[in-house]
Amino acid sequence: MIMEILRQPTAYAVQCKDEALLIKSTSGGVFGTLAHHILESDGIVYGAAYEEDYYSVRHIEADNHEKLTKLFGSKYTLSQIGDAYKRTADRLKERRRVLFSGTPCQIAGLYRFLSRSSFGEGQTSSPPRVGNKLLITCDLVCHGTVDPKIYESYIKWLEQKHGAKVTAYMFRSKRNGWKTMTAEARFANGKTYVRRCDADPYYHAFLTNLSLRECCGDCKYSRIPRQGDLSLGDFWGVDKERPEWFDDKGLSVVLANTVKGQALLEECREQFRLFERVEISIPSRYNNLEHGSALASDSKEYQRVFHEEGFEAASRKYVSIPYKTRIREAVAPFLPRKVYSLLRKMF
Ligand SMILES: Cc1cc2nc3c(=O)[nH]c(=O)nc-3n(C[C@H](O)[C@H](O)[C@H](O)COP(=O)(O)OP(=O)(O)OC[C@H]3O[C@@H](n4cnc5c(N)ncnc54)[C@H](O)[C@@H]3O)c2cc1C
Ligand code: SF4
Repeated sequence: MIMEILRQPTAYAVQCKDEALLIKSTSGGVFGTLAHHILESDGIVYGAAYEEDYYSVRHIEADNHEKLTKLFGSKYTLSQIGDAYKRTADRLKERRRVLFSGTPCQIAGLYRFLSRSSFGEGQTSSPPRVGNKLLITCDLVCHGTVDPKIYESYIKWLEQKHGAKVTAYMFRSKRNGWKTMTAEARFANGKTYVRRCDADPYYHAFLTNLSLRECCGDCKYSRIPRQGDLSLGDFWGVDKERPEWFDDKGLSVVLANTVKGQALLEECREQFRLFERVEISIPSRYNNLEHGSALASDSKEYQRVFHEEGFEAASRKYVSIPYKTRIREAVAPFLPRKVYSLLRKMF
């Protein structure tokens, strides 16, 4: 059967050939490569995009290459599903091929939605699979997502600090390389904001599990067996493990969880510069393939202060960014890359 679940997922290290796509993508540009391929075969793609004002993220339908670019890049907040499940069901009824991407819980939600509609009704296997060879699902190795209200307040906080609307935002700008997780915002008045993850209050709270949603601390979906036909993540540790593959432009780890997922990867093989089978040790490197993130002990307090006093107050009380880091990051945009790297080593 074409949607058969593989007993043990097969893991690959993958990087796309397309340099322009790679720079816009978080890791190795695998999602974009698969998505372009689906569009070329008259298919439809669903995934998370920023709203025009950058105050929220929601799942949208991409039926052309221009819309597809909105889906590229990780957005570290909850993406609202809206009518994306219903639209997926409609497209499948039209016999269109669909690539649906999202967090593991969103993929589980999609299968639940479809199993209640006319597709695969009555199927109860775990994870539930819909008997439709036109649908391919792609989940993410998931650290967790942040309450959209906190995210919205963060963007408004940035706007207040810079005196203008945000016109572009990236959680994983590659201007300092892939390995250095860097946030980058652009503003209507021409200003830019560039901060390494440990120097940005929102990013810091996300990575230290202060601001994750409560349900993420008790996640039933971040584990094997995976929810999607494919699972995508960052190939952390490649610089030490396989230095010959490391160029700091982004490398993905991809799990093929089903025969259908494996087949899609094979269809796109020519588009990958690197496509190597790897053995991955779980959970040592990929905790979030095995279980959800444990919430920080003061997560409840951080969120209470956020709701009562706002983003700045919660950040001031619970996010401790060392003084040296703040200075280093504030001057970073004005420094040549080599000087910045030297500063990072020193501080
Ligand atoms: C909230 C979140 C947490 C993550 N945590 C980890 C982690 O701990 N470890 C790890 O190795 N990888 C993690 N990832 C995955 C990783 O960051 C890359 O998204 C993944 O490797 C795909 O990269 P890419 O270059 O192939 O494509 P990209 O173009 O970067 O992929 C973008 C894809 O991610 C989807 N997406 C983006 N934001 C969201 C969102 N908020 N909700 C649902 N879908 C979204 C888009 O729809 C699109 O399909 C996380 C991603 C997200 C969104
Ligand atoms: S950690 Fe679990 S519950 Fe939270 S967004 Fe990821 S898959 Fe969903």
